[in-house]
Amino acid sequence: MADVEITDIQATHVHADWTWTFVRVYTDAGVTGSGESYWGSGVGEVIEHCSSILAGEDPRNLDYLRHKLFEGLSATGSIAGKSVSAISGIDIALHDLAGKLTDQPAYRLLGGKYRDEARVYVDCHAGDPSEHNDRYSPAAYADKAEAVVSEGFDAIKFDLDATRRYERDSHNRHLNAEAVDYKRRLVEAITDRVGYEADVSFDCHWNYTGDSARRLSRAIEDCEVWWLEDVVPPENLEVQREVTRSTSTSICAGENLYRTHGVRPLIEQQAVDILQPDMPKFGGMRETVRAAHAADDYYIPMALHNVSSPLGTMAGAHVAVSIPNFIALEWHAHDDPHWQDFAVDGDIIEEGRITPPDEPGLGVELELDTIEEFMADGETLLDPA
Ligand SMILES: [Mg+2]
Repeated sequence: MADVEITDIQATHVHADWTWTFVRVYTDAGVTGSGESYWGSGVGEVIEHCSSILAGEDPRNLDYLRHKLFEGLSATGSIAGKSVSAISGIDIALHDLAGKLTDQPAYRLLGGKYRDEARVYVDCHAGDPSEHNDRYSPAAYADKAEAVVSEGFDAIKFDLDATRRYERDSHNRHLNAEAVDYKRRLVEAITDRVGYEADVSFDCHWNYTGDSARRLSRAIEDCEVWWLEDVVPPENLEVQREVTRSTSTSICAGENLYRTHGVRPLIEQQAVDILQPDMPKFGGMRETVRAAHAADDYYIPMALHNVSSPLGTMAGAHVAVSIPNFIALEWHAHDDPHWQDFAVDGDIIEEGRITPPDEPGLGVELELDTIEEFMADGETLLDPA
């Protein structure tokens, strides 16, 4: 294909079981690319503003366009926050578009494959409420783990802060002995039940002090969890590093950070055992691959945080197969009945794995009828391709 120019970029925001912002990039060749940004108010407006930055550009110049967007928004927040989320969604759409224009799957635009499929882990949140009066009991957690593993998944995650039980004050971030013991019993119940059938990780959502984090991570060392996630708040690198170095439990963090520059100190100071960016928020497919290689220079593996629709999740799978140090891609929507409806043929997970198709681009198309059904007030539907 000779000349092709970007003519427009549109965004539509939906409120379903989760909140999603979808992106579409249009060209004068009649070919479009679709993407998705991490949720947040105002992201759609930033996306549509970027139309003026990319208008007239050749969408196949992926590195240059990523660079141009970061430079174009540098005075209004392209270091972190909603501007980076907006750029991320556009970058995903550009990979879909450039793949279609050059007849290549998106993973090939990222350098090609290390593996054929992306391992998916299920975010199970808390215990199974159907059989238990107390869904926060160790038995309820273990039952939920067993049920999800029996569906064919070999990787799961639970929230270790789904209840603040035994925590005497929800503001001081302190875990007393009883709270640590309760969390240890949850971890032990799950890991005992699933054994080596599944890797199990646990999320703490930035809730605890460095001291509490160290005591909790040491208390569960014998359980050999996959990782313990976001034990301390995300702003203080030194505390994060000290927690990671204090325990043999693998410590994971990174979903609140943006761009390779944002995670560089974590990597260089080996402040995490596993790095976990959220690709549709972090800077997009290209930026996440850059960060993966930076982490790999320090032999740090990467898990991909993910709360996306099937489109963004498939984009994550393309990144997952393209980087050497990939561990797993999150699936946040196990209990969401509408999730797969946001894409045509949206049932993309098979036996706990996603295989990026060899079709041009992402190989997944948005289902506009579902998007229209769940569109937020005041939104306009994306124009069809
Ligand atoms: Mg998390």
